[in-house]
Amino acid sequence: MARYRDAVCRLCRREGTKLFLKGQRCLTDKCAIEKRNFAPGQHGKSRRPKVVGYGIQLREKQKVRRLYGILEDQFRAYFEKAAAMKGITGENLLHLLEQRLDNAVYRLGLAASRAAARQLVRHGHIFVSGRKVNIPSYHLVPGQEIAVREKSRNSKAILGALDLSGGRMMPSWLEFDRAGMKAKVLSIPRREDVNFPIQEQMIVELYSK
Ligand code: SF4
Repeated sequence: MARYRDAVCRLCRREGTKLFLKGQRCLTDKCAIEKRNFAPGQHGKSRRPKVVGYGIQLREKQKVRRLYGILEDQFRAYFEKAAAMKGITGENLLHLLEQRLDNAVYRLGLAASRAAARQLVRHGHIFVSGRKVNIPSYHLVPGQEIAVREKSRNSKAILGALDLSGGRMMPSWLEFDRAGMKAKVLSIPRREDVNFPIQEQMIVELYSK
């Protein structure tokens, strides 16, 4: 499946905020936002132009899409699904994004970034309700169990990520048993479980034009 392959720190610099795409490095002073918080490219150092109207909506959509590591077509498909669901479209969209398996693996602390979580899933380290699932976008539903494959439980990458994730907030919709390296999906995510500043209404307005 197609994915973004360029330097990810450019994405944070483009959005002018940390998107935490590189795991541990994002927490150090090597973070590009700490060192070069201006837009990438030849004219990046000139003052950021004032963004208004459509520009604000576009930047908000790009920020969320990049945060979850999703390409445009798939993001649009999530929006259409969210719009067809009952309830508030913007919140539905965030719920759908949160319920991706790669996001849940990251939120549990099993990977240092969503990209690393995607790789864990792709490489078959993650089981859902007893079956190997290697599709990062797999949609989790309440009652399912997420587990690290038995052979992978001593993986240095997973144990290292767990140690680093100590300070990360565990969302209320997941219950994690660290000793057993498994988690349960308790409910669908709540809006307050999304621990990143997002104005989802801007995305709704953008796609509703
Ligand atoms: Fe973004 Fe992390 Fe790179 Fe900093 S280190 S710019 S937070 S991806």
